[in-house]
Amino acid sequence: MENVFPLDQIENMRALIATARSIVVTCHVSPDGDAIGAVLAMKNYLERKGKNVLAVVPNIYPDFLKWLPGAGDILVYEKNEEALRPKLLSADLFFFLDFNGLNRMSTLAVPVSENMNAKRILIDHHLNPEKDCCHLSFSYVEMSSTCELLYLLLFALENGDNLTHDEAVCIYTGMMTDTGGFTYNSNRSSIYTIIAKLLEKGIDKDKIYRNVFYDYSADRFRLMGFMLYVKMDILPEYNTVLLSLTREEQKRFSHKKGDTEGFVNLPLQIRGTKLSIFLRENTEQNNIRVSLRSVDDFPCNRMAAEFFNGGGHLNASGGQLECTLEEALQIARKAVKKYAPLLRSTKID
Ligand code: 5GP
Ligand code: MN
Repeated sequence: MENVFPLDQIENMRALIATARSIVVTCHVSPDGDAIGAVLAMKNYLERKGKNVLAVVPNIYPDFLKWLPGAGDILVYEKNEEALRPKLLSADLFFFLDFNGLNRMSTLAVPVSENMNAKRILIDHHLNPEKDCCHLSFSYVEMSSTCELLYLLLFALENGDNLTHDEAVCIYTGMMTDTGGFTYNSNRSSIYTIIAKLLEKGIDKDKIYRNVFYDYSADRFRLMGFMLYVKMDILPEYNTVLLSLTREEQKRFSHKKGDTEGFVNLPLQIRGTKLSIFLRENTEQNNIRVSLRSVDDFPCNRMAAEFFNGGGHLNASGGQLECTLEEALQIARKAVKKYAPLLRSTKID
């Protein structure tokens, strides 16, 4: 395993950790497996180094991540703003994990921005990191997950791999979830070199897979079936599939946060599909959540920025629209038409 980071940056990070007395590790709003995996691995590592660490995430995260070692210690800012605010204001080091700027932190950005004394270290793989949001930035967009990047960083910090079993579990979970179980964005061989090292720590990768991907409630499974049978709109001439769910439909299947996670990936299993768009009436805010997934070189992030007030990665992006679901579907159809030349090269049959 080679160190891919500038040595002065590693030294800098080592020094910032050494002098910090109170550290907060945090991640983006609506945390996913990569975000939570990175937060927990980092927290565990820093505690092992004798540090006083809080894991604070902006809002709640899906139940299928609650089994992760240390998840019980995660503090949810949105649920406990008053009690957490003083702790955030007195922290002297923040780790920003799996996001590229303060605008991805929701209301947690407020106390974090107010704390002018704390140093900030960014560890992330998203495009276009916010300039100057952090004192030290490890922004590597070629990494398939922040957890992959974190593995390499901890390796560099320690001059070798001394991860614990629990840290290995968290890191593997992030690598696995951000690549859809190593089915996209996962062709770099170094990913598997890292996995081999994690397996040497005794992780049970098959169990981790089941914990995360075989964790549907009956309601969630039925909601998925309903959506695919009743609500799926295939646009064969554009090799695109539109999915949508109203608030009412989600309620009918006793929707819980995280229940629709991964639904947007499903239509990519239909032969020839290049793009899947999922529009969902948000159950938390009064807007439409948009998720985009693609295969090959179709740029979801360009479409998300142009039509859905969002962005993201080439093959996985998101955004939101302030309108009705019907209007959002019209916007999606318009977007698909505009991108027709990129979508038409193969057909769904
Ligand atoms: P998801 O569909 O899972 O909500 O989001 C997929 C990816 O798109 C995320 O990992 C994130 O990189 C990006 N993303 C989602 N929502 C937004 C957004 O509102 N703005 C930006 N810039 N990126 C987003
Ligand atoms: Mn990620």
